[in-house]
Amino acid sequence: MIDTHVHLYDQAFDPDRDQVVQRAKEAGVSRCILPAIDMGSHEAQKNCLECYPGFCHKAAGVHPTSVDANYRKELDFAYANIQNAVAIGEVGLDAYWSREYIEQQITVFEEQIQWARDLNLPLILHSRSSFPELLNSLKRCRFPGMRGVLHAWSGSIEIFREANRYGHFLMGIGGVVTFRNARLAEVVKNTDLSALLLETDAPWLSPVPFRGKRNESAYLLYIAEKIALIKELSLDKIVDQTTQNALSLFFNIQK
Ligand SMILES: [Zn+2]
Repeated sequence: MIDTHVHLYDQAFDPDRDQVVQRAKEAGVSRCILPAIDMGSHEAQKNCLECYPGFCHKAAGVHPTSVDANYRKELDFAYANIQNAVAIGEVGLDAYWSREYIEQQITVFEEQIQWARDLNLPLILHSRSSFPELLNSLKRCRFPGMRGVLHAWSGSIEIFREANRYGHFLMGIGGVVTFRNARLAEVVKNTDLSALLLETDAPWLSPVPFRGKRNESAYLLYIAEKIALIKELSLDKIVDQTTQNALSLFFNIQK
């Protein structure tokens, strides 16, 4: 399995990061992708990438909640550290806490879509309370070959399909799918397995039975099991196909 979204460099893992990686490997996780947040977390991300070569892979970008009036500094820093990235992320829009910098967020997001185009990289998209604006940006900035993942998806199948009119986007499924949430289960049921990716978003969003506790990549298995249950397919089938989806999107590896 590939954990396509994990903040392994978060300080929540400082006490026992080696064991967390060990447990992930024992659970069958062979690679993970570490999305960037901002300048403040860059050093920790860099250290983590250096500690676990081949296991941890890098994404580069500016997270929307790290955008304010001084966004240029963040953008320039992220672009200067883009080498070896397998994706641009996590990028997008977040109007959940505040709409104060939404215009700046849109500017920053759209500039990073250009990076994805120029460097031929997939996008790791974050969208919270901002689907209309996100779709507008994707529409405005679309280019042939635009692709990526709508991370921690909890939206409708209609919005997912609209995003797919502008590019090729997969659906990142995490711990939320294990919660009592009939709507997301329905969305997963009605989405082709070729469009699904596994992710933890650890240390956040732990799946049941760890809900509320620290999340980690080893728990990816609980997410895969829940998807197997929803889609009435074997766990092997879910693991094989979602791994292939991730290899193809981020590593250009086709079976
Ligand atoms: Zn994240």
